[in-house]
Amino acid sequence: MNIDGRTKIIGLLGCPVEHTLSPVIHNNLSKIFAQNMVYLPFHVEKEQLGTAVKGAFDLGITGLNVTVPHKQQVMEYLVEIDDVARAIGAVNTLVRTEAGYKGYNTDMEGLRKAVLSEGIVLADKVVVILGAGGASKAVVYMCLLEGARKIYLLNRTLSKAEEIAEAMNTHFSENGGMQGRGSECTDRVIPMRLSDYHLIPEDELYVFQATSIGLAPHTEDCVLEDVAFYKKVRIGFDLIYNPSATGFMRRVREAGGQAFNGLKMLLYQGVIAYSYWTGISFQEMDVVCGRIYEQLYHGIHKQDNLVLIGFMGSGKSTVGKALAHKLQYDFLDTDTYIEAQAGMSISNIFATKGEDYFRQLETETIHTLMEKRVHTVFATGGGMPLRQENVKLLRLLGKTVLLQASAQETFHRLQGDMTRPLLQGEEPMAKIVALLHQRMPHYESAAHLRVCVDDKSVDMIVEEILYKLDSM
Ligand code: NAP
Repeated sequence: MNIDGRTKIIGLLGCPVEHTLSPVIHNNLSKIFAQNMVYLPFHVEKEQLGTAVKGAFDLGITGLNVTVPHKQQVMEYLVEIDDVARAIGAVNTLVRTEAGYKGYNTDMEGLRKAVLSEGIVLADKVVVILGAGGASKAVVYMCLLEGARKIYLLNRTLSKAEEIAEAMNTHFSENGGMQGRGSECTDRVIPMRLSDYHLIPEDELYVFQATSIGLAPHTEDCVLEDVAFYKKVRIGFDLIYNPSATGFMRRVREAGGQAFNGLKMLLYQGVIAYSYWTGISFQEMDVVCGRIYEQLYHGIHKQDNLVLIGFMGSGKSTVGKALAHKLQYDFLDTDTYIEAQAGMSISNIFATKGEDYFRQLETETIHTLMEKRVHTVFATGGGMPLRQENVKLLRLLGKTVLLQASAQETFHRLQGDMTRPLLQGEEPMAKIVALLHQRMPHYESAAHLRVCVDDKSVDMIVEEILYKLDSM
């Protein structure tokens, strides 16, 4: 970006801030929406928070995020506090006004948008929240707002859960007519000691994991171990996003429930803050959230994988091996991997179990590889990007490169190849044209970049991919 005399500054106050992912969200939004604005993290110690907020205002800083451990203390230094932030008792976003900063809490709304985007409906449900720290208050507020019937708030230190439960029950009984469905029922939040989890009588639980247990590198740790508890969990939502599959999430899935991590919450709280600072509506930014989500994911996982996609015969395996050799990466062909796992050839899987079964195997394969592989070049099956779900997963697995061959070139390369089940029988050229026409939109939506391979040697294609990756 070009920094000039008109560049606006936004940023983050926290301690520590060294590993924050927020710049990925805000600086990408500024790039996409052509805002002359830069986002910078500021490491501010507790004792300096007041002078930092005053100094930021005097320097003309447009807006700030606030993170651990300042979300409560910062409220002392603001000229105004939004009602929701006041009820939650924490501020994570400062917006400049004439007289000073106004404080908002976008964690709550970010979590709400994340929950809704996964199709989770909390109205009339029984919720369990594990943890009663700073983040937990936004979770309780969101669940009350969404009309949860009962919320068990479990914490190791009972007094903290009691304090939050009392504040939230009072707030929602006083404001219940305006905020939150199910307002006829007071004291919906029930504080409990974490070790008393087995006293919860209901099944079909919606559980939010809001403790700090399970954060990388302690990825298998979890505050509750009991399989009997997990058997009652329908939905598990971990606020932690690094690792992307926490020990809590794994336990939920193994017991048959659905599990989600906190990366979308992080994304949406940032996008909402950006909307306050710039006036760009959330709806306008929503369309680019998928792209930013990918950047966040890659910011955490740093797998550096490359994923070659494209039609059969476009050279994914040959180019993939050469690319892996050049980069000193591993190489993996997903078709070969699936054949080894299934113990039969792709043609046999098609013939005996059908295409849908094979496509499902492909989806499961990407999930497995996402957890296991770094520094790998993947050559993927030609039909892999046909499923919308796979498009999203492939783009998370690594940088996706479309190898694009014309129908003529494809025909020339595949002549006489009897191993392609989709091209057996009469008129292979017509089949190639029709299939290419049908598949190209899927390939295009899956590709971070594309390289035309007609009349090019493998070395030329490898060089072009590396050049294009460098200029991304
Ligand atoms: P916090 O204020 O420090 O609270 C930590 C919570 O974890 C407390 O309830 C604490 O219980 C519990 N805890 C810690 N060690 C424990 C142990 N050994 N056994 C049982 N419970 C234990 O942290 P926070 O700000 O609420 O953050 C909680 C989590 O949410 C963090 O992992 C954070 O990364 C995540 N988060 C995610 C987002 C997002 O955008 N996705 C936003 C905010 C926070 P006690 O009260 O008994 O100490």
